[in-house]
Amino acid sequence: MKTLTQLAFHNTYSTLPATFGTRVSPQPLDDPFLVSVNPLVCNMLELDPSDAQTPYFIDLFSGNDEHPSFDPIAMKYTGHQFGQYNPDLGDGRGLLLGEVLTSSGNKWDIHLKGSGLTPYSRQGDGRAVLRSSIREYLASAAMAGLGIKTTHALAVLSSCTPVYRERVECGATLIRVAESHLRFGHFEYLFYTHQHAELKQLADYLIQHHFPELNNEQNDELRYAAMFSKIVTLTAKMVADWQAVGFAHGVMNTDNMSMLGLTFDYGPYGFLDDYNPGFICNHSDYSGRYAFNQQPSIALWNLSALGYALTPIISKEHIDAGLSRYQVDLQREYSHNMRSKLGLVKRLKEDTDLFNQLFDLLSGQGADYTLFFRAISNIGKEELLTSTNLFVPLFSRIEPVEQWLQAYKSRLDAEEQNDEARLTLMNQHNPKFILRNYLAQQAIDAAEQGDYTMIEKLLTVLATPFDEHAELDDLAQRPPEWGKHLEISCSS
Ligand code: AMP
Ligand code: MG
Ligand code: MG
Repeated sequence: MKTLTQLAFHNTYSTLPATFGTRVSPQPLDDPFLVSVNPLVCNMLELDPSDAQTPYFIDLFSGNDEHPSFDPIAMKYTGHQFGQYNPDLGDGRGLLLGEVLTSSGNKWDIHLKGSGLTPYSRQGDGRAVLRSSIREYLASAAMAGLGIKTTHALAVLSSCTPVYRERVECGATLIRVAESHLRFGHFEYLFYTHQHAELKQLADYLIQHHFPELNNEQNDELRYAAMFSKIVTLTAKMVADWQAVGFAHGVMNTDNMSMLGLTFDYGPYGFLDDYNPGFICNHSDYSGRYAFNQQPSIALWNLSALGYALTPIISKEHIDAGLSRYQVDLQREYSHNMRSKLGLVKRLKEDTDLFNQLFDLLSGQGADYTLFFRAISNIGKEELLTSTNLFVPLFSRIEPVEQWLQAYKSRLDAEEQNDEARLTLMNQHNPKFILRNYLAQQAIDAAEQGDYTMIEKLLTVLATPFDEHAELDDLAQRPPEWGKHLEISCSS
């Protein structure tokens, strides 16, 4: 384990030409202090967690001190927001500080969110507030714990610097850690500004650092086509994972889409409580463009926008071939995820009916998605029809549940694995703990009063959400009435 000054750096993005971003120093926050640090992310960086308690760490990530190996840069990108192209985007309140190289050869971007004004701040103040920083911090931990590819968050700092939203709040920063901060929007920027040589350069950069195996392909066109196919597959996998766990991103603009299929830029996201396929978590999403059940088609829309931006280096034919993989990849991954949730190993035709009946049942009665799957993960096959009392708290009418359980029990007859293997599989795919909106809100309300214990409790269960954590059962409950309709909007 190392201290901050012992970390090795290999800054690659800042060696790219000036068009890729602007060098900017973070603007200091007043009287900064540490809110929370995630020890698992420290481990990824090989950073000693106790180093995060030091004044140097706090000063560094609040813009009050410098690191000799940082080379802060605001990345330039553009993107489609709610379907409209916006040429003026970029890191408006964040900076890529540098890239840490670990002893095992992993490279991690260190990004500071809430670091002040940049040339891409537009009307914004370049700041982040405590509540949105905590929301991103917890969501990153939740997704990592669920095994879903994501950016990570090392720590949250707060300060006494006032930030003006609907009310005066405290300026905060989030230290984001990711394999890469490259977005679809990076390529859209270079395409729409006709910088095609630079676009090719960025594709080479992406391949060199993230898809080196593609370098075996000597033909440029085929290599870039393979790169696009990879991105399609990674994106499909990410969305299949979201749909299975009940995660709604909320702002799937192309500037929030990662080139590596990482869940990226947590704002007004939401995990499903009651199973409602049309769930809209973003209060500003009036048309429901980014509703939960729209995510699979929006991801394809975004991939098409990326494909279009790549036409200077990939033929239309290859773009179309890449895009045509999407449905296949998505269906394969989603079906695998959902079968695992029901402990099914074999693939049978009639399973589609079993799933559709289940979705109708859950949505028809507004049953809690997570609690249902967790409950069914703990019942032996022979007890399925005598354990319906376990479902009484989740459903208002139990008869249709009994009918479905009967069908499920019959379906299990076709499986060869024993109950123990089935239940183990199910418990590995059906988390007990998800980051429900009301839990995040409780953590935020307490933190705004200086109490960070809820954040720490949530970090504990979210790191291993498939474990029982019996002493923290209260974090696995449905929302109380006040917590069902919290309104969360875009950037804050
Ligand atoms: P988001 O909705 O978080 O994806 O942000 C969209 C764009 O707005 C990005 O270019 C951000 O950098 C920028 N942005 C969001 N909040 C602020 C802010 N407070 N100050 C400056 N730019 C911001
Ligand atoms: Mg964004
Ligand atoms: Mg954001």
